[in-house]
Amino acid sequence: MRRLLAFSAILLLTACSTSVDKPYFRTAGVYKPSNAACTANPQSFAQAEPIADFSEGNGCGISNGYKITAMGDVSFSQPATVTCSVANTFNDWLQSSVQPRAQNIYGERVVALKIAASYSCRPRNNVRGAKLSEHGLGNAIDVAGFTLASGREVTVLTDYYGNSSNRSFLRAVRGDACGPFHTVLGPGSDQYHNDHIHLDLQRERSGGPYCH
Ligand SMILES: [Zn+2]
Repeated sequence: MRRLLAFSAILLLTACSTSVDKPYFRTAGVYKPSNAACTANPQSFAQAEPIADFSEGNGCGISNGYKITAMGDVSFSQPATVTCSVANTFNDWLQSSVQPRAQNIYGERVVALKIAASYSCRPRNNVRGAKLSEHGLGNAIDVAGFTLASGREVTVLTDYYGNSSNRSFLRAVRGDACGPFHTVLGPGSDQYHNDHIHLDLQRERSGGPYCH
């Protein structure tokens, strides 16, 4: 009996060490981000600082990256570290979707954005063992909310299913992002995206953009 207990203890220990050894993320099938959308130097439309190319040696890193603190007159709640392509696509989305939609729906401009995440060396959805997130390549940005000129706040968490103006605005800007951004996720996509809109430039799938 004692021997059996000792054997069980060893099995338990083995099981624990196996889960600890599981890699933090998988990098198979992860492509280097494209520079295709890097059509303008972000310094021409944003408060942006170029950052030197770096690699963390585990699949994470950024080439042609910028640290952005504001875009035009729209300030960021925290600096966003993203590729030049993401910066350009994000700026296009702000100018051609977010601002006109805000004018139409609220009669005022967006002056600040709540940025939930940008560069981050981690698995998708922070789930250990999942594929490396596009955030680990600076190829993604998460937006949690918008501040209008009057000070009114529109947040994904509280307003996505809120009053009709907020619902229309958040659904419209999310919909417009699909296409220019290749992956767009938000409330309803899964349990991980209830409080932000995730935008990334993952290489387009054969079936077109992925917007759930
Ligand atoms: Zn994200």
